[in-house]
Amino acid sequence: MTSLLLDHSFEKWNLGSVPKYRLEQLRHWIFDQGCLHWDEMTNLPKSLRDDLARNWDILPMELIRSQGSSDTTQKFLWKLRDGQLIESVLIPATEGTQGVRASRMTLCVSTQVGCAIGCKFCASGLDGLKRNLSTGEIVGQVLLARIQAKRRIDNLVFMGMGEPLANLPALLPALDQILSPKGLGIGARHLTLSTSGLAPKIVELASYPAQIRLAISLHGGDDETRQKIMPINKRFPVEELLNACEAFIQARKKMITLEYILIEGVNDDLKQAELLASHARRLNAKINLIPYNRVEGLHWNRPSIHQIHAFLKKVESGSPPRVTLRMEKGHDIDAACGQLRLREMNDSPQAATLM
Ligand code: SF4
Repeated sequence: MTSLLLDHSFEKWNLGSVPKYRLEQLRHWIFDQGCLHWDEMTNLPKSLRDDLARNWDILPMELIRSQGSSDTTQKFLWKLRDGQLIESVLIPATEGTQGVRASRMTLCVSTQVGCAIGCKFCASGLDGLKRNLSTGEIVGQVLLARIQAKRRIDNLVFMGMGEPLANLPALLPALDQILSPKGLGIGARHLTLSTSGLAPKIVELASYPAQIRLAISLHGGDDETRQKIMPINKRFPVEELLNACEAFIQARKKMITLEYILIEGVNDDLKQAELLASHARRLNAKINLIPYNRVEGLHWNRPSIHQIHAFLKKVESGSPPRVTLRMEKGHDIDAACGQLRLREMNDSPQAATLM
């Protein structure tokens, strides 16, 4: 059985003699209606539905576990065709001012099974890279999460398992389907790619036509500090990374975000705050400060509230364009990327042996 969405965007579907207008009906059912059952596609002839059901299924994955937290962050564990496990996290937020409040839904999407980058704060890196996700496995996470949420997904952040820029050949066609009004119709400005800092890929991404957002996992103001957290810094040191960001910004005329996880005694001293503010000024970039979210098996800690605020104050005094302090949601459901998958593999030896 082949998955219709595994590798091909809907523009490239080829089902032998099935005419184009039928393919458009199929697209409508899947992307506009969120219908994933051939039987329910009632304007297709029964003979065609039976034929499709014999030879094709729609998505290359299934939901095997869903966890919700008290603040209604929801985490999904998907099982892929080859038994590999990946995660997506659905995060609701209420935004707005002066009595006009709107609730928005953000999905954190994975792009690889495991990850080769090995950032020291991350559960996804603990087990290394298994493989890249296909285009359909990336799009499928959004389609299925939308069905689970029973509502539209407003924002996508590619901050789940994997380094998105290490999988551009599958990711860019997935973005095309996600952005297309005939696909998931999510606006480019509502998509954020987060990278550990693959400098040459940042430059490559600058030529992608849509106005997607870019976030850089900086986490250290100088090479010595950043290297303790981000081993990738040995390949692409801070200056090379900042140069690549400048090239991206120049090509795209788009503000980027510097992500900075605050870890006690590792990168939370005020000298780092000064450097962070200075890099943000140089790039005209926003700063997101994220106090560390404890990962099982790792020994780092979140700084005290006092230190978090001292760091924030020091950054602000360096006049970067904008700083936000983000206390992450979902602590009680292992929301940091890779944690639910690791737990499932530890709890279920047969899941691990499928990998
Ligand atoms: S933070 Fe992202 S890039 Fe770093 S190890 Fe985790 S998944 Fe990979």
